[in-house]
Amino acid sequence: MPPGPLLTTAGWSLNGLIIQGPRFREIPRVSVSDKNLEATIRKHESSGVPLVIEGVHGHQAWPTAMFDVQWLCDNLKQQIQVRNVHNRRDLSVSFADFLGHIRSIDRYASADETSRWYAKDIECPREWKEWLDTTPVVPRSLCPHGPADIMQNLPEQARVETLMCYLGIGDTFTPCHKDLCASFGHNLMCYAEDGASAFWFMTEGSAAPLMAKYFQSLGQELDLESHTMSIEEFAAAPCDVYITEQKAGDLVLVPPRSCHQVVNHGGLTVKMSWSRMTIRSTQIALHHELPIYRRVCRVETYRIKSTIHHTLRRNTGLLEDLGKGKDTGSLCVSYFDHDIFREQLANDVQKLLEQFRVVILEECYPDAEILDHVIQDFNHNVYDTEGYPGFTCDFCGSDIFVSFFCCKHCSPTTEDPSSLSDGLHICPGCYAEGRSCGCGGLMEPVQCWPLQILYGDYNRAVRALKGVGLEIFDEVEDR
Ligand SMILES: [Zn+2]
Ligand SMILES: [Zn+2]
Ligand SMILES: [Zn+2]
Repeated sequence: MPPGPLLTTAGWSLNGLIIQGPRFREIPRVSVSDKNLEATIRKHESSGVPLVIEGVHGHQAWPTAMFDVQWLCDNLKQQIQVRNVHNRRDLSVSFADFLGHIRSIDRYASADETSRWYAKDIECPREWKEWLDTTPVVPRSLCPHGPADIMQNLPEQARVETLMCYLGIGDTFTPCHKDLCASFGHNLMCYAEDGASAFWFMTEGSAAPLMAKYFQSLGQELDLESHTMSIEEFAAAPCDVYITEQKAGDLVLVPPRSCHQVVNHGGLTVKMSWSRMTIRSTQIALHHELPIYRRVCRVETYRIKSTIHHTLRRNTGLLEDLGKGKDTGSLCVSYFDHDIFREQLANDVQKLLEQFRVVILEECYPDAEILDHVIQDFNHNVYDTEGYPGFTCDFCGSDIFVSFFCCKHCSPTTEDPSSLSDGLHICPGCYAEGRSCGCGGLMEPVQCWPLQILYGDYNRAVRALKGVGLEIFDEVEDR
């Protein structure tokens, strides 16, 4: 990849940046101790405007020593992946080597420099994860797998780890991108050496289609995460661009589909980030993001169809209990009363059913009963504890849920494929567009398990809605 123009934060300040673009705005901020914090977060979620929660490091349970670089030195024993931001090559080094490198170079990039390492997507230390899960510093509603994250409905073994760390000195960066699958992003600066910081450039979530077009006019593809925007390019963008300078204790909230670029400034900063999904995320992912991913072959990573399915099943169960007058226990506590909880739940089940209908339509195949199944004896208990085969489309990287096409004679991994599992897999969407196995042979339609299971779960949700007096959906015929 040819080197782009030099990106450097030399001379940057928030005020100095804001005046450089007609549509540059500051990202709104709220203190973590503000009594309207929850309401402010909800408003940010519905508006799609970025938000910074500041002062998180002022909490008495903030673990200053654990977030220190010395702690990482003592505890990060495994190799870490670093990216050379100049040529986008990744390499694996020890933490000591990483520190040695960043101590040996200037905090500002120069034109003749050839390497500047950014440790991205580092596995988060177990202790940090525990801190996030067990101390009341970050609001529960924002925590990974918390009450407002539907990824908690996936079986433990099928969950994707989104909690990651980022370590970098000035002038390391992440090019402009959208977070995966319309998830909500959260990024907490845990440590900043000598007043170091990170500059964020972000759009509202709804600006994503405009930005995608703008990228194409620059000869770039937004979803490939390969273009680093200059200040001039941001200034000419067809939408508002929100900017902030993230300092220690700042938690940046990234709305679904917000296009954002992060550039580190000064000494070493350490950030912790994670994603969260809501029913609105899966809806946007299903209708807007996954079709783009298939086109540009961006790997899905999150298992959207399965997340919808598990969430539908869980909420159906709760709705059935309500219909039978059973106590749903602690789940109601956050709602003022039973009626509001029931209304909210019924509303969620309706939205999930609409999404699930789209999933079923994509998965159905005319002569489904004669197809080969990867799992011969499907049962819900196994599905609920272990998940399902982790196949991805070998062309576009989408997660394969039920139906796919298989070439048993070819394989992307083994020399001599002997089963459906290690053959070459193509998702139905790709196959319909003419993407196929390179050998030119006919691919065989296969299903992971019988589609009847999906019909059954769909109909159960329809009946649960009827049980609370909502006759909106009809059962599908169990063909
Ligand atoms: Zn991001
Ligand atoms: Zn595909
Ligand atoms: Zn083949």
